[in-house]
Amino acid sequence: MTDFQSVFGAAPAGGWAAPGRVNLIGEHTDYNDGFVLPVALPHTARAAVRRRDDGLLRLHSEQGDGTVTELGVAELTPGAVDGWAKYPAAVVWALREAGHEVGGADLWIDSDVPTGAGLSSSAALECVVATAYNDLHELGLTAPELALIAQRAENAFVGVPCGVMDQMASMCCAEGGALFLDTRDLSQRQVPLDLAGHGLRLLVIDTRVKHDLADGAYAELRAGCERAAELLGLRALRDLPAARLETALDRLPAELRPLVRHVVTEGARVERAVALLDAGDLAGLGPILTAGHASLRDDYRVSCPETDLAAATAVQAGALGARMTGGGFGGSVLALVEDGALDQVAAAVTTAFTEAGYAAPRTFAATPAAGARRIS
Ligand code: ADP
Ligand code: MG
Repeated sequence: MTDFQSVFGAAPAGGWAAPGRVNLIGEHTDYNDGFVLPVALPHTARAAVRRRDDGLLRLHSEQGDGTVTELGVAELTPGAVDGWAKYPAAVVWALREAGHEVGGADLWIDSDVPTGAGLSSSAALECVVATAYNDLHELGLTAPELALIAQRAENAFVGVPCGVMDQMASMCCAEGGALFLDTRDLSQRQVPLDLAGHGLRLLVIDTRVKHDLADGAYAELRAGCERAAELLGLRALRDLPAARLETALDRLPAELRPLVRHVVTEGARVERAVALLDAGDLAGLGPILTAGHASLRDDYRVSCPETDLAAATAVQAGALGARMTGGGFGGSVLALVEDGALDQVAAAVTTAFTEAGYAAPRTFAATPAAGARRIS
């Protein structure tokens, strides 16, 4: 354990935090201009930061190898930075690309967002750096503007073609609520999610697996969606109403039909979930989660044996509903459970994993937390 002072030999100008997220429903919709409904996790990436005026970016992570990575801000180019340092470097690059005259910094990072678990540790890291720079350089950018900078950083500098959900969730979520976000125009609304008041808990099950397919498959699925939209003469699949789904499917090649079916039914599930939450029927979310999982498993085909087992076992053990969350091929499963059933559901999944010969999953209950903020 180090701190800013012991690594950089001076006091930081301030401290910032940005959360990871779990998406209630609306998976693989954010690159189809669709709806999503994420909540921020209590788990955050935290940054202690001090500006430098010599053009150097010096980076230390408590989750890194103990060294300080030193980069020249003026030399930052996509592809030139390896390892975890590319995420914070990407944000500085993206800010400069957007015309903001920001320079170097000493950056000390510590995060308890599980990495590679589909809980967006990468967006948390980007967003905490973006928020710190916004404050330290008095850029005056809004939370959605910072999210777009962070997304551009991940797309163009890190090289991951992600949609905008993760960064918007990390920047814009509010404590006690889910973020109902339209990823086309970024219009958003906080939907109250008083789990405790309804005797409910959100159980997150990190399967601790990530299959190699993930990156290539994501790009392929995204391209498939774009092709389907083009064939249907639509700007994006978001523009296909559920009522016209069946006739639209008839006009598509067989391999694209299940993709379109998932994206369109998933968009409808988000809208239905929001209506239920607005009506105070939080338990009604359960069957929507389970239907969402079936759609990801059978139509979009991004689940895997571990996430299928976790979701099915959670429901068998008494969860009101469960689904994989995140891009797929591993990562985490989200289950909606009644207060008293939390331990039994978590234990049932752990037992099922042992019996299947899988490593034990990591389980925790998530309360909807706040978005990126200054903490000191
Ligand atoms: P996810 O965003 O689902 O956690 P990603 O593969 O997108 O998975 O991002 C994980 C990567 O983000 C890690 O491999 C690491 O490079 C970087 N990262 C996240 N948090 C930290 C941290 N605290 N310190 C260093 N690197 C981190
Ligand atoms: Mg990520």
